Amino acid sequence: MIQTTHYCAKCGSDHVRRNGSKNGQPKYQCTVCRHQGLFVLAAARKAAQYAQVDALLVERNSQRSIARVTGVARMAIAKRLKKSGGRLAAPAPAAAEKGAAPGMGSSGAG
Ligand SMILES: [Zn+2]
Repeated sequence: MIQTTHYCAKCGSDHVRRNGSKNGQPKYQCTVCRHQGLFVLAAARKAAQYAQVDALLVERNSQRSIARVTGVARMAIAKRLKKSGGRLAAPAPAAAEKGAAPGMGSSGAG
């Protein structure tokens, strides 16, 4: 059985209990500070994040800046870009991003 722990958005306590629902989503109330809120599911939150990533990719922002802004891991963004098959961003002129990380590829194979 998979169990998820919810935390209060206000005080961070895990003493939360279910308190009805709103628009089909469960509402929770913190028993410590009485803060009441709607807990957004991880899948819904991720979908919103990825929608923002797609929008930023279309504007041809760099992967690192997108990762910084949205909080999505850079490799997740790179995978998404690869899966889209160049739909989100046309192949780059290859001059802008080349000089960013020099000397990263040495694996020490000898
Ligand atoms: Zn609380």
